[in-house]
Amino acid sequence: MITLALSKGRIFDDSLPLLRAAGIEVLEDPEKSRKLIIGTSRPDVRVVLVRASDVPTYVQHGGADLGVAGLDVLLEGNGEQGGAGLYRVLDLNIARCRLSVAVREGFDYAATVKQGSRLKVATKYTHLARQFFASKGVHVDLIKLYGSMELAPLTGLADAIVDLVSTGSTLKANHLVEVEKIMDISSRLVVNPAALKLKREPLRALIDAFEAAVGSQA
Ligand code: ATP
Ligand code: MG
Repeated sequence: MITLALSKGRIFDDSLPLLRAAGIEVLEDPEKSRKLIIGTSRPDVRVVLVRASDVPTYVQHGGADLGVAGLDVLLEGNGEQGGAGLYRVLDLNIARCRLSVAVREGFDYAATVKQGSRLKVATKYTHLARQFFASKGVHVDLIKLYGSMELAPLTGLADAIVDLVSTGSTLKANHLVEVEKIMDISSRLVVNPAALKLKREPLRALIDAFEAAVGSQA
């Protein structure tokens, strides 16, 4: 049995066409069913639904043989540092967005940075934000949040946020402006190295099929 870890929402939705191109139909819609383990048209392939930030943990510890995780999640880490026990095998080019700095409309980010004043930054991505601002020599106070980052500058909790942006419409709706891109993000196929040894043939075939599907959709 091959177990693939996916998270509900855009990663699941964007993975479906790649799975289909690899000849795999997922048998249930996670938005309609409460099942966490879903069968596929291939009797030897199943999907497990986990939190986006839990995908690396599942793959690392062999709860899944492979999984799809955002580069943001992989780089930020999940407490079990370094991505040990995890091969990052393929950029799937899905769930594309960017990690950016945004501030309230009218906040002078450039001046704050130039003056060397401390910047209060709220984010779920404290490691990536710390690295980024340190590399620029900007002093920051980081405030860890788990969601609704857009609210922080509007309530005075922070001057800026570091968050994922795709169209920018969420920022706009909250009167925020993107002032700096930190990096481009897409989802990656990650594989458990032990599984790759034990189930070499079927896993290799699946990875190759994914690779072909990504190439044909580029
Ligand atoms: P959790 O529900 O576990 O807290 P989450 O809310 O971050 O995680 P999603 O919003 O579904 O879960 O995001 C999952 C992944 O999709 C992110 O890690 C990122 O790689 C990608 N992603 C997030 N936001 C966007 C976006 N606006 N556009 C494109 N991809 C995105
Ligand atoms: Mg979520």
